[in-house]
Amino acid sequence: MKYYELLNYGKELLERGGIETGEYDARELLIFASKKPLEELLMIYREDAPEEIASLYKKYLDQRSRRYPLQYIMGYSYFYGYRFLVDEAVLVPRPETEEVVHEALKMTENVESVKALDLCTGSGCMGITFYLERKSAGLKTHLTLADISKDALGIAENNAINLACPDMKDPDKKIEDILIKESDIFSNIDETYDIIISNPPYIKSGDINGLMPEVREYEPRLALDGTPDNSDGLTFYRKIINEAGRFLNENGKICFEIGHDEGEAVRRLLVDNSFTDIKVMKDINGRDRIVTAVFNGE
Ligand code: GLN
Repeated sequence: MKYYELLNYGKELLERGGIETGEYDARELLIFASKKPLEELLMIYREDAPEEIASLYKKYLDQRSRRYPLQYIMGYSYFYGYRFLVDEAVLVPRPETEEVVHEALKMTENVESVKALDLCTGSGCMGITFYLERKSAGLKTHLTLADISKDALGIAENNAINLACPDMKDPDKKIEDILIKESDIFSNIDETYDIIISNPPYIKSGDINGLMPEVREYEPRLALDGTPDNSDGLTFYRKIINEAGRFLNENGKICFEIGHDEGEAVRRLLVDNSFTDIKVMKDINGRDRIVTAVFNGE
């Protein structure tokens, strides 16, 4: 088959399977299978594709038509312009989460050196992006990436090495200024920080069945609701906010992603635990998504 025929075939197959982004996904998979950038593909569209490329592409289409996420097929996802490795152990980074990181950056923009903790780090996309953006602004960050999942931490570590220390060849060498910690929320944390960033599992357990098949069937349940009895979606905010004071420096900050209907409940938890300057902010779709606050207690 010719390249353009493969593309049309893929688009139709995916659209028939109910995937609205069928055309985009088919094109990405053809780029991925052929290892050719789009500009090159456009020039050879009318040529026959080699059999190896066509069959690899069809294998990927088959996976995608069963609603397997595009990013898991490719093994990476872009976040804030950086390419993060992903697999089934971690959530596919979302554009809304980029906005959360943007707020965390604003909260610390003139601070020369910051100690930051990314709780429930998954792929590490939030913490590592925070680190990289500050680095490019000439600011220093001591970053800890924490998660309960060893598999997720493996991915986060690879991302830290690839993105933050691409020259690092020696596997025993510590990644400069980035610590990876296995921890059930604060269970293994024993330092204090200037900012805690987190996108914890916040889907209500009862809502899991109503999610898109890509999410429901393939993304890690541990990252969605985190515990089968997360009935109101607030379990992790409760745990984090109740204990955060012990892990924050004076005027320590918190920056959370939240579910669109969780703003008021999270605000209340923060008020009850001596946080001030509480802001609930909307994402680009106009839905509550970001909460920031400053610790003002003992
Ligand atoms: N911090 C990661 C992300 O935003 C993982 C979040 C999670 O596992 N709940 O993608």
